[in-house]
Amino acid sequence: MNPIAFAVPVFFVLILLELWVAHSRGVSVYRLKDSLTSINVGIMSEFSKAIGGLISLVMYTLITDRFGAFTWDVSNPMTWVSALLLYDFCYYWVHRTGHEINILWASHVVHHSSEEFNLSTALRQSSTGFLFRWIFYIPLALLGYPIKVFVVVGLIDFVYQYWVHTQLIGKLGWLEYVVVTPSNHRVHHGQNDYCIDKNYGGVFSIWDRMFGTYADERDDEAPVYGIRKPIESWNPLWANLHHFVQIWQQVTSAENWRHRLMYIFAKPSWTPAKEDATEVFNAQHFSRFDTPASTGLLRFAFVGTFVGATLLMVYFYLQSRLPQPLRIAYCVVMVLAIASIGWRMTQARSYGLMHAKRGSEHA
Ligand SMILES: [Zn+2]
Ligand SMILES: [Zn+2]
Repeated sequence: MNPIAFAVPVFFVLILLELWVAHSRGVSVYRLKDSLTSINVGIMSEFSKAIGGLISLVMYTLITDRFGAFTWDVSNPMTWVSALLLYDFCYYWVHRTGHEINILWASHVVHHSSEEFNLSTALRQSSTGFLFRWIFYIPLALLGYPIKVFVVVGLIDFVYQYWVHTQLIGKLGWLEYVVVTPSNHRVHHGQNDYCIDKNYGGVFSIWDRMFGTYADERDDEAPVYGIRKPIESWNPLWANLHHFVQIWQQVTSAENWRHRLMYIFAKPSWTPAKEDATEVFNAQHFSRFDTPASTGLLRFAFVGTFVGATLLMVYFYLQSRLPQPLRIAYCVVMVLAIASIGWRMTQARSYGLMHAKRGSEHA
């Protein structure tokens, strides 16, 4: 069974624990619509990976079989330690290019689309990452690390990053120099000037220190979470596609080929008018996205998300027994069903209940 199936219940228990600790401290770090969206983005990502993730495994195996340079002893701990270090180094570049090259940002932006920061934010993973990410891990395949080692260190890197998405843990002393922590990952999710393009590490923060992309969290300026071009939607499908749509519109309306290429490969902030466009962030002008929602709508979204998570677990259980066409059909139906929950929550503003607003109200 997919090992993520074992992690999912732990993720949810830790979310409940974080809610309880926040409540006992009298602080509010969750909003229901935002968290349901994060969970739905995560469910959608798992369904897309169930199909698209095969690209990564097939390509990795092909390259290792054809070009793998060394034979690795999987009983030697150094095999695993070196693989994790190299994987995390590659992850740093996956992540850094995911912020600094527009077409890759279109895929990664979904992780940053929440204006909250809590354990549910960690579940906001891209549904399109499988298209590009495998390319960055080719060095592991060329060195011949077995696919089993690649998959396990990838899981370690992924699961490690869950706990760093919290506001309830402060700075951790010397650990900040070595590994990714809640404090330095909060900086990564901030849209303040000092947070932009900082702290790309997965497990280790040493890469950021080596390549000059490290920034400490400031006591005098807390990170404001989210992205500077907010998506203003609770729809996981739109969260995954909106920046691709924007790039398409920019490319098709661009005046020349240089501009077309720049829209695809330059930094996300690039514009023809201002080649090095750097806006100054003003926290005073920021307010969180929100929409009206009746109790009935919130109940529908909550139950729908719970059913979606349950059907994901059912999929993990049945996966190996289903023929490929049925697997694809299951995943496609689930992606559309999950999208419909977010679409309905976002559309609530069109139903005349209230006007959608940007506000700082917390649930
Ligand atoms: Zn990021
Ligand atoms: Zn994150």
